[in-house]
Amino acid sequence: MHNLLKRQLKKAGLDLDTFPSSENWQQFLESIDRSYQQSDQDRYVLERSLSLSSTEMQELYQRLKETYKTRESAILNAFPDLLFLIDEDGKILELLAGNKDNLYKPEQEIIGQLMTDILPKKPVKLIKQCLDHALQTNEMQLVEYELEVPSGSLHFEGRAVVMGELPNGKRGILFFSRDITDRVQSGFQQKLLESVLSSATEGIVIMDAGQRVLYANQAVSQMTGLTVAELINEGQGFLRQQQDQKIYQKIYDQARAMGHFQQEVIIHHQQGDQSDVLLSMDTKKNDQDETEYIVAILTDISEIKASQVRYEHLATHDILTGLPNRRLLEERLRQAVSKARRNQFNGVLFFLDLDRFKTINDSLGHGVGDRLLYQVASRLIRVCRIEDTVARFGGDEFVVLVDDIRHQEQAFRIAEKILRVFDKSFHIQGHELNISTSIGISLFPDHGTDVEQLVKHADIAMYAAKNLGRDRYQVFTDEHLESAVAGITMEYEITNALDNEEFFLMFQPQYMTCSRDLSGFEALIRWQHPKQGLVPPGEFIPVAEASGQIEQIGLWVFEQICLKVVAWNQAGLKFNRLSFNLSQRQLMDGKLAQKLIGVMQRTGAINYAGQIECEITESLIIEQTDIALETINRLKQTGMLLAIDDFGTGHSSLVNLKRFPLDRLKIDREFVRDIGRDQNDEAIIRATIALAQGFGLEVIAEGVEEEYQLDFLREVGCQEVQGYLLNRPLSIEQCEAQMREQSDLPQQAQGR
Ligand code: C2E
Ligand code: CA
Ligand code: CA
Repeated sequence: MHNLLKRQLKKAGLDLDTFPSSENWQQFLESIDRSYQQSDQDRYVLERSLSLSSTEMQELYQRLKETYKTRESAILNAFPDLLFLIDEDGKILELLAGNKDNLYKPEQEIIGQLMTDILPKKPVKLIKQCLDHALQTNEMQLVEYELEVPSGSLHFEGRAVVMGELPNGKRGILFFSRDITDRVQSGFQQKLLESVLSSATEGIVIMDAGQRVLYANQAVSQMTGLTVAELINEGQGFLRQQQDQKIYQKIYDQARAMGHFQQEVIIHHQQGDQSDVLLSMDTKKNDQDETEYIVAILTDISEIKASQVRYEHLATHDILTGLPNRRLLEERLRQAVSKARRNQFNGVLFFLDLDRFKTINDSLGHGVGDRLLYQVASRLIRVCRIEDTVARFGGDEFVVLVDDIRHQEQAFRIAEKILRVFDKSFHIQGHELNISTSIGISLFPDHGTDVEQLVKHADIAMYAAKNLGRDRYQVFTDEHLESAVAGITMEYEITNALDNEEFFLMFQPQYMTCSRDLSGFEALIRWQHPKQGLVPPGEFIPVAEASGQIEQIGLWVFEQICLKVVAWNQAGLKFNRLSFNLSQRQLMDGKLAQKLIGVMQRTGAINYAGQIECEITESLIIEQTDIALETINRLKQTGMLLAIDDFGTGHSSLVNLKRFPLDRLKIDREFVRDIGRDQNDEAIIRATIALAQGFGLEVIAEGVEEEYQLDFLREVGCQEVQGYLLNRPLSIEQCEAQMREQSDLPQQAQGR
């Protein structure tokens, strides 16, 4: 046996004399295999030894060859590169190894072809260069090229090794083509990542476990005013110096414990500015679960914060006045209630509703209305303490909240102060406006412990203040609540009354003062309530005015009197006029004239318009609005008469009176009542009549109950009278009888 073989056998620990078992053979072959791989020298020797054949060797050689073959193909199969055998002309002779998926074309279409025929120009040029270089210098040169293979675009690295002569006499070249797509792309990604990091608007800081800054991008230097180099040079994490130690430690500890943490912090700029920043910290751990890196991302949220603040403000404040709105008020009230409860203090809620604001808004326009609200708001703020809340509740309603009063009297004093805010007139766009407010007061905890109740009770008290004549305050009482509840019930019942025809009219006659001849009637509404019996208008008219139901009721009344005017004329009954009362609320309806004229046309009363008289109250004249004036003018155009009711109570100015196309003044019964008792009132009556004559108006006095009142009125020249002395309001039948009676007396003059 060849020495070499012996050595190998020995190496494998085999006995040289006994024939080895198949297992030992296996070991032996593997050991040879290893040697073969390990050393060229060994291989050379081994190959030489193998060429010395014997039967035994022949067998061994055979097996070795097989092993070699398997290994060779294993190597070639595992070979990552495409390995081509190419001749010096560039003809591809063989594909020796490689992943065929990376081939430009199927193998059979490549083999035997010239590279120039199958590959695109650009890579061919590069590969050619590489081959030529190898052929000329015998040195290896690397080329990189890109090829579109069926599975996608791949990057290759090619190298060429010159071999010996081929059977066709040409020189052969081994060409290795390695897929380096991943490498190229990760390089690209690296670059991309870098440029993204450095141009990111977020500040990015990478620190090591010792919190030393390893990397900081441009955005961080913009936030801090430190250069990137300065940031990196900061021995300790610069973030730590930026923050209050405690805050920073908390963020850092949390990030370490949970891997991620974020919190809003403030970053100070070198130049003194500061920005709100959302700091997110992530920790990257190594295999031993130790923190290796800390990545901090700083997002500047100053803008967002600012707009958040703006948004918050918008959501909780009234745009027009800048005051807290209802939402914020409710929030503060909630707090105040619980604070008062804790401290045994009392709180107080003032609910303000401007008196007659709607009139100003309707007549002078919303622009003026808005400015007025703004000025009211400013005055209210000035009169309140900084710790009180002045809020706009909606429309012309304001609320003042004071959360620490000791006595109810203190609340009254504040209410007085608020009322006095309106003493001085408001000057807006050349108008001098005088308004007042009605205030409802609820105290907590006495009048409620929750927001809803307190607001409701203050609101009810405010209504009570309005009903008592406005420009005053009222503290909530249970009676207010009762009447509010009754009001709501009544509202409901009024609706029913209209449906069930529970309303009817009475007619109070009016007479010539001198002759006591019947001159006309005033229509007065009555409500026959199914349970309560007769309900006086003084009780339900205010409710209907507040709810707006008066519009419907008023229209019904008007239709009734129109029907009567027509019917009485057709029946030949004689009367000078039939008057009806028009509520102020009705006159706020811009379509009123149109509606009333419509009724007159439908009923035919338009033909007797001169016998219909409309009574409006004096207060309406004082608050004259364009809408009311226009309505009245249109009604006047039909021939309808116009009287001013309750004259003397409202102290209207002459100028205002002159603007209205009046026919008659109706002296209020308050003045008539005091005839013989109050010389002042007598003087007023005299003056009123003189004034009326000056304007060419007629005068009627109402509420005449006594003979001496009538005498006085006759003396001072009041043409007509109305009152219990002469007649109470009559039913239709009674008043028709009256008219018939009058026409049965031919010797008496008819009317005026
Ligand atoms: P008004 O317009 O001042 O009506 C006159 C009121 O004086 C009537 O009360 C009448 O019955 C009453 N009266 C008449 N003569 C005398 C008298 O000698 N002494 C006294 N003390 N009172 C007398 P009434 O019917 O209760 O109406 C009260 C108020 O209700 C009316 O006051 C008017 O403002 C309103 N009203 C009545 N009917 C209507 C209506 O159809 N529409 C509207 N909007 N209001 C109405
Ligand atoms: Ca009247
Ligand atoms: Ca009256």
